Amino acid sequence: MLTVICETPGTLRAEQRERPVRGEGEVLLRVKRVGVCGTDLHIFTGNQPFLQYPRVMGHELSGVIEEPVPGGRLAKGDVAYVMPYLSCGTCVACRQGKTNCCVNIQVLGVHRDGAFTEYLSLPEAFVHKAEGVTLDQAAMVEFLAIGAHAVRRGNVQPGQRVLVVGAGPIGMAAMIFARLRGAEVTAIDGRQDRVDFCRRELGVTHAVTLGEGDVDQLSKVTNGEFFDQVFDATGNAKAIERGFGFVAHGGTYVLISVVRDTITFSDPEFHKRETTLLGSRNATTEDFETVIAAMREGKVPTAALNTHRMALADVPADFQQLLDPARGVVKAIVEV
Ligand SMILES: [Zn+2]
Ligand SMILES: [Zn+2]
Repeated sequence: MLTVICETPGTLRAEQRERPVRGEGEVLLRVKRVGVCGTDLHIFTGNQPFLQYPRVMGHELSGVIEEPVPGGRLAKGDVAYVMPYLSCGTCVACRQGKTNCCVNIQVLGVHRDGAFTEYLSLPEAFVHKAEGVTLDQAAMVEFLAIGAHAVRRGNVQPGQRVLVVGAGPIGMAAMIFARLRGAEVTAIDGRQDRVDFCRRELGVTHAVTLGEGDVDQLSKVTNGEFFDQVFDATGNAKAIERGFGFVAHGGTYVLISVVRDTITFSDPEFHKRETTLLGSRNATTEDFETVIAAMREGKVPTAALNTHRMALADVPADFQQLLDPARGVVKAIVEV
């Protein structure tokens, strides 16, 4: 079977591998679609310092069940999506149902080989029937679930003013699910094309371009009160620190993106506002189900989000293009 391997940063190679044999308690999945994530781009560019190369990337996947578990939940031919965070089920976080921050988490395409291949044998518990959505949509559930999880962490309420800082796919996901909860959403990003995309495709109430006068604009759209909830999806330490200043008195700051750095903030400002500070990591089954339900109801603009596609065989030659900001990539899908 065709498999694309990231051998070392910057090098992708196609090779033929043996098709895996279905493991005990596992399903054999015929991979059909794989979404390309910021994580994959970081693996490719070598900005994932703890990753072991070579690695088969890809954790946003959908496919068709080739061989189910005998007597299991899934049947041959079912269209399925995958929860790519393989959790242990026994650690302190898993025991509380917080499988998204499992102590022993194994993420497909990061800690173990992922979906840039034709077949995967996966534990049945992490494979779910994707009813009422397309294969493309099923491959887009994961990044959307990360946004949905963050919005659930913040417990966004109807009518709240929400600011999402960073309009990459994850930030966009947070915007979509905050809006679906009835919040008034403002987007801010440094890239004009992304700001325009949020305004045009995601129906945000306000969209602001980072730069001179941006704080005045954020102040103006909230009558000087700033935001009940601020979501950071920038992956930038300075931006995270700046975001503390956008939280209204009594507000909440949710950090979705992670940086390998120390974050500092002014304690008097933090206390004055009685800020609630939350980390948000990955997503749980509940979030995946929230996304699937919203897709089924036609509430997620998946066609607009899927800006690019390529065949698995073309990945070694064409992957590099996805890094070019001029191409306006939001979500690329690899067809297997
Ligand atoms: Zn992802
Ligand atoms: Zn665990």
